Amino acid sequence: MDRHAQAFVYEPLPARVLFGAGRRADVAAEVARLGCSRPLIVTTPEQRAWSDEIAAAFDPASTGRFTDAAMHTPWHVTVRALDAVERARADCVIAIGGGSAIGLSKAIVLQTDLPQIVLPTTYAGSEVTPIIGETRDGEKRTQRTRKVLPQVVIYDVELTMTLPPAMSAASSFNAIAHAVEALYAADGNPITSLMAEEGIASLAGALPEVMRAPSSIDARRIAQYGAWLCGTCLGAVSMGLHHKICHVLGGSFDLPHAHTHAVMISHIAAYNADAAPVAMQRIARALNAPDAWTGLYELARGLNVPLSLEALGMPEDGVDRAIELITQNAYLNPRQPDPRALRVMLARAWRGERPVRIESVKT
Ligand code: NAD
Repeated sequence: MDRHAQAFVYEPLPARVLFGAGRRADVAAEVARLGCSRPLIVTTPEQRAWSDEIAAAFDPASTGRFTDAAMHTPWHVTVRALDAVERARADCVIAIGGGSAIGLSKAIVLQTDLPQIVLPTTYAGSEVTPIIGETRDGEKRTQRTRKVLPQVVIYDVELTMTLPPAMSAASSFNAIAHAVEALYAADGNPITSLMAEEGIASLAGALPEVMRAPSSIDARRIAQYGAWLCGTCLGAVSMGLHHKICHVLGGSFDLPHAHTHAVMISHIAAYNADAAPVAMQRIARALNAPDAWTGLYELARGLNVPLSLEALGMPEDGVDRAIELITQNAYLNPRQPDPRALRVMLARAWRGERPVRIESVKT
């Protein structure tokens, strides 16, 4: 049944979004609009040059800098950043970078309640979600709280032009996976589904051109628009089996976050196919493909992202351990986790084989 005929709840998240080439020039005006004047600018070390440019828009005497953001928001980094907030007497945070810089900005805000302005430079989507993951004592804990939702997002396509093609492709699959799971989320709704379909179509349409011509500003702009929509889906509804599997594989085998999404999402679409036929039709339509899982697999192949868990460094005998963890506290998903079918699916994903629909496997 289509979602239009069902009951649903739709609760949009507040955000002011500025979109377009060169929009980072508006950052000082946005700080003033928030009634602030003493920003702390947060980045990863590699994005230091962007942070220099943003800082140039402010009085150096009232501007703090922190350029040591790191993947997975380690608590010891947050402690140092909080110290920088205090030393700068900051009254707002500006993050420029990917999910790592934005994760640190959210971690600061969680402790300080400061307003934040974020300028994303990848397609991960954290800038429009109320989600924060933090790593303490070797364990990553994720929570949803509106406290960490940025007040202002500035999508300036020029900030994405340097994202290498291979990283662009992997980051896009991270985004697409949010939209795929939003289309069959238990708490999904027609508006989020519209954004999901448009997000997948935009990214899938733009990425081949981004790979061919990384300096094409039009292709990059469409990809960034798609990433915004896909991130909005992640912020709005619950994620399912695919996200559980990616968290297990990332946490247990240290597989790279975005690449794991790229390998797994076509297999999960095939796994869920019979339980979520309307979602699959919409994904296929967005990809202009005969079916969702073939479309996702072919997109990954065309973008030259690794297609197997083996290529990402997962040991073959890790499959059984992964199944054990995946079936504990399973996320809501259209199809129940079936350990035997999951084993067949993960073995195929490990070898990089095409996704196939897997019936329940009988003993
Ligand atoms: P990232 O921020 O770690 O960036 C990856 C690498 O790309 C870094 O080395 C960075 O310096 C570099 N980089 C970033 N932008 C660049 C650019 N424009 N040009 C050249 N290099 C650039 O990675 P990510 O994939 O954006 O984010 C991953 C992290 O974000 C993970 O910790 C993930 O859990 C988290 N995340 C959180 C949410 C959320 O809603 N909370 C959503 C998605 C991802």
